[in-house]
Amino acid sequence: MTDAPQTIAQRLQEVRGRLSDACHVAGRDPAGVTLVAVSKGQPAQAIRDAYAAGQRDFGENYVQEWQVKAQALADLTDLRWHFVGHLQRNKVKLVVGNVFLLHSADDMAGIGELARVAWSRGVRQDVLLQVNLAQEASKRGCTEAEADEFVQVLCRSPGLRLLGLMTLPPVEDDPQQARPWFAQLRGLRDRLAAQWQDQPGVPVEWSLSMGMSGDFSAAIAEGATHVRIGTAIFGSRTYT
Ligand SMILES: *Cc1c(COP(=O)(O)O)cnc(C)c1O
Repeated sequence: MTDAPQTIAQRLQEVRGRLSDACHVAGRDPAGVTLVAVSKGQPAQAIRDAYAAGQRDFGENYVQEWQVKAQALADLTDLRWHFVGHLQRNKVKLVVGNVFLLHSADDMAGIGELARVAWSRGVRQDVLLQVNLAQEASKRGCTEAEADEFVQVLCRSPGLRLLGLMTLPPVEDDPQQARPWFAQLRGLRDRLAAQWQDQPGVPVEWSLSMGMSGDFSAAIAEGATHVRIGTAIFGSRTYT
């Protein structure tokens, strides 16, 4: 690549261009894909710069880091926080009701705690069910086989609203190799939607949160409704 864009605004514009190209190729409306700018490891000022360039959806992975930034950016009242990392049970109360969408409902105990806290506060937290398609030990989420049970539990929890699925596929060298994983999540979504369509609380339109800096075009080709993009917007960071 020549002349990589330097500022956050330029990088953001470049990512938006690639996102709409991918939608065009897939015959999809770009309005159906939410770009979540994953700002972990980045200072509040970087988020402010992206906000100034029109970005509104931001993703964070670590509760303490997010809280510090949320405080520093409290004046940006229409900023939408997405929580995309594993949420420890003892931190659930800090997050429930304070994020627009939790992408990482990933185990039964955590979901129970989420539901309990949301119910006790009288709020309804929007969540995605994280699926560990390759059953990697290093990743969180239910298996495909467990997904039905998780969907039922989420739909029966009054404090939670299930909106769809999220995945973090195995790291591949070539982004095209990630595409079968995205197709698999889409297939799971189709199966779950058909299986549970009469169940109260089941999503009408299921979201699919999949695709990151290296592979979001392939994810869009397979139906991603949310892409989570960090380094392509903010540049490199010191941790994952
Ligand atoms: C860090 C992270 C991203 C963004 O990754 P990039 O490769 O920097 O785009 C997306 N999703 C999750 C869950 C992450 O932890």
